[in-house]
Amino acid sequence: MSAQAALLSLRSFNLFSGWPEVASMTKDEFDDYLAAKGLFWKNRPCPNCHEPRSITHEISESGEPIRFKFECYKRKCKASRLVVKVGLLKDTFFEGLHCDRKKRFLFSFLYVTSSMKVEEMARNVEVDPNTCVQWGQWIRDVMAENFNNPAIQIGGVEEDFFLQLAPIDETNIVKRKHNVGRMVRDGWLVGGIQDGTRSVFVEITGRRDQASLEAIITRYVTRGTTIRTDCWGGYNGLAALGYVHETVNHSLNFVNPTTGVHTQRVESLWSQLKKEIKPKCGLRGDNWDDHWFQALWMFKYHEESKFYELWKQISEKYPLN
Ligand SMILES: [Zn+2]
Repeated sequence: MSAQAALLSLRSFNLFSGWPEVASMTKDEFDDYLAAKGLFWKNRPCPNCHEPRSITHEISESGEPIRFKFECYKRKCKASRLVVKVGLLKDTFFEGLHCDRKKRFLFSFLYVTSSMKVEEMARNVEVDPNTCVQWGQWIRDVMAENFNNPAIQIGGVEEDFFLQLAPIDETNIVKRKHNVGRMVRDGWLVGGIQDGTRSVFVEITGRRDQASLEAIITRYVTRGTTIRTDCWGGYNGLAALGYVHETVNHSLNFVNPTTGVHTQRVESLWSQLKKEIKPKCGLRGDNWDDHWFQALWMFKYHEESKFYELWKQISEKYPLN
């Protein structure tokens, strides 16, 4: 079975039919289970002799041997200038984490499928809440990255798109740890949703002018798409860029009486997301943008298997080949 097909099996993973099998595995068996899905190294060939390296074990705190690193023991390889040993977790999602990978796997399931609070998840996976906070951050990093991939454009000819610029309180936006500079403190949120779908894009820009707006839209939205906006003048160049542009003056009414255009859908999405974020960190705070992307991610994959989507995106963020 290909890694892709094996990964697809996570779509039907649940606490009855998926978890008991995982729970009964040894640590090595679980690493093989991950490797079969492209989430962990199967083996890493030696850069000198190009043959699979041996796996060195170390003894864990509980006295169980666990895999530790890949190493080639051939004399000629050890004598070469190439690096013949490499840590087991190097370049994987698990790098920097010397703790039970099974627990982390279960945590990720609870994180995307349940509404448990951190303390409840910590009790269920038997680690301390601070560890869970850190794990949650790593998951949110993956989710945020999902919305920063303009390689995939949305919209299309005969597709309707609702677009809106929304001001963001400057205290809401912080620089993200791992992508310094991607976010700006004083921002405007440019976001859109394709009508009748859960395809969304969102980007935060420091400048509210036509050029910045157009740069963002052309990155995310396919030309030919019908874009519906309010009457702000910054949208006036959209037709020249190859979009069909329709407006509605929503200070007067949500639906333009002549064209039937409305911008309600994107507005109700923003307010729904804000409602979800508020109990987590208020409407301001250090993690506001992360929680924003998380809520948006949950919306986007509402009808999919979120557990599968998460691990598929992890496998794309950490390609192992
Ligand atoms: Zn070798």
